[in-house]
Amino acid sequence: MRKKIVAGNWKMNKSMDEAMILASEVVHMVKDEVNADVQVIIAPPALYLTTLQKHTGPVSNMGIAAQNCSNKASGAYTGEISASMLKSIGVTHVIIGHSERRQYFNETNEELAEKVNIVLENGMTPIFCCGESLEQRQGEGFFAFVASQLTEGIFHLSAEDFGKVVIAYEPIWAIGTGLTASSAQAQEMHAYLRGHLASKYGQVVADETSILYGGSCNEKNAEEIFSQPDVDGGLIGGASLKSREFTNIAKSF
Ligand code: PEP
Repeated sequence: MRKKIVAGNWKMNKSMDEAMILASEVVHMVKDEVNADVQVIIAPPALYLTTLQKHTGPVSNMGIAAQNCSNKASGAYTGEISASMLKSIGVTHVIIGHSERRQYFNETNEELAEKVNIVLENGMTPIFCCGESLEQRQGEGFFAFVASQLTEGIFHLSAEDFGKVVIAYEPIWAIGTGLTASSAQAQEMHAYLRGHLASKYGQVVADETSILYGGSCNEKNAEEIFSQPDVDGGLIGGASLKSREFTNIAKSF
């Protein structure tokens, strides 16, 4: 049975005090209200990871993610944070290849493949993001485009390592726009991607891979989206900044 996962990407938001309040509210609500078979992950700004890990660490169905990491192991890379540093403070997951990083920081699939490798080498779980732009969605070939992001970013992995990866399908046109993919559109892409995984790793591995949906997911639409057979949870942006709403999303399976 593949894992049900709800991950909150806080992006570049919240002061330290605000982050502490949000994290402790989420931790309490998750402990009290969310089914133990749902894994809940928060991805705060890197600066707060050490402190907030102390809140999430003791909760068995919670994890804490970095929003990015370096593709280099260590050394003279000013401003970067390595996977081994993240591991050393108890980080469990790393978001890799979010569309904002691809778009604003020009991250390529080649670089992202290196990041996936280094995250896995350090015993953490990559949450690998993929998704098409509005122009691509309105044209042809967007299924093949998203599949190619997976091919180039993670298909170099052995089946064993591939089994440790979580995928997040996030249509760029739905991120932060209030435009959500319909549940049918999400299901269609997730089923297609699962087929693509099966073509490389076989049906058993594909069936064990969690594929999350991201893009204006909120407490109102989560249940409908998560009810789709190939949608295994969500990567949540804006709605993860409110503890009540984020927890409600985690309760939407
Ligand atoms: C995201 O950026 O990963 C995301 C899904 O954002 P939002 O939920 O705000 O659309």
